Amino acid sequence: MLRRLRAFLILCALVFAPLCVHARSSVAQPAWCGEYRAAFAHLQRVPSPDPWFEVYKVAPGVFAIYEPRQFEEVISYLILGANRALMFDTGMGIADIRKVAESLTPLPITVVNSHTHNDHVGGNWQFSSIDSMDTAFTRANARGSVAAAQAELAPGNVCGSLPPGFDTKTYSTRPWHITHWIHDGDKIDLGGRTLEVISTPGHTPDSICLLDRANGLLFTGDSFYPGAIWLYAPETDLDAYARSVKRLAALAPHLRMLLCAHNEPVANPSVLPKLVDAFNEVRAGKIPSTPAGPGKVIYRVGGISFLMAAP
Ligand SMILES: [Zn+2]
Repeated sequence: MLRRLRAFLILCALVFAPLCVHARSSVAQPAWCGEYRAAFAHLQRVPSPDPWFEVYKVAPGVFAIYEPRQFEEVISYLILGANRALMFDTGMGIADIRKVAESLTPLPITVVNSHTHNDHVGGNWQFSSIDSMDTAFTRANARGSVAAAQAELAPGNVCGSLPPGFDTKTYSTRPWHITHWIHDGDKIDLGGRTLEVISTPGHTPDSICLLDRANGLLFTGDSFYPGAIWLYAPETDLDAYARSVKRLAALAPHLRMLLCAHNEPVANPSVLPKLVDAFNEVRAGKIPSTPAGPGKVIYRVGGISFLMAAP
């Protein structure tokens, strides 16, 4: 969830408008609307059957399914093996992500979630095969929710129009059925591609990364993405997060690419040791904070930032 400059601009628009260089005179669209991330120019875009999503082929058999018009810019992944496919997250639930996935592969699809915050599980209900971490947090979220989904549509959160037929009043995270439990160290065989489950609690108790060791790909979920990493929620455990990113950093020498759950899909694995150092500096009290809305602050360390509870 906040991830980025965009969230800062929303804060700007709502709270600090007179101070914001990006604030626009028009109130019709949020300040970030129309921004373009240059990194996407280097990616191979492929057609999407639904204009809510942009789809990019980011590695052989790996598609990033990006939702650029909601400020969190969530990114789900379709990962293909020879026998079946895996959806790593299902997005906001605002448009039909299953239709997108089925336009990209005829293979049977299993869903695995990077964690069960609403912006990553919105399309879970559309799928019949869902592997989940065995935590109380996961079980609670699988019952669905209304409030978290509704909050996604707050003023300034959406750029342009919502999809035709989308009903803002009834928008919710629909319940889903967990068909299989997964655990740290499990290997998911897709046929010719194996994904390893790496438990990375911190952002939430059920956060995981997926490692495609043979191809040097690490799908990071919300443990890392280019914008400010959200670490303020009640379910966040900062000690666990510190341990998790240290574990990920140990993998960095063996990785070719990070694939992130917000903002931009592709990042360089060399950021992982820097992430460890940055977070350690924040926790050691060495980094000044900037106010970021009620009860929250942002810490910026080089190009890495964290949105956290105000001390
Ligand atoms: Zn999250």
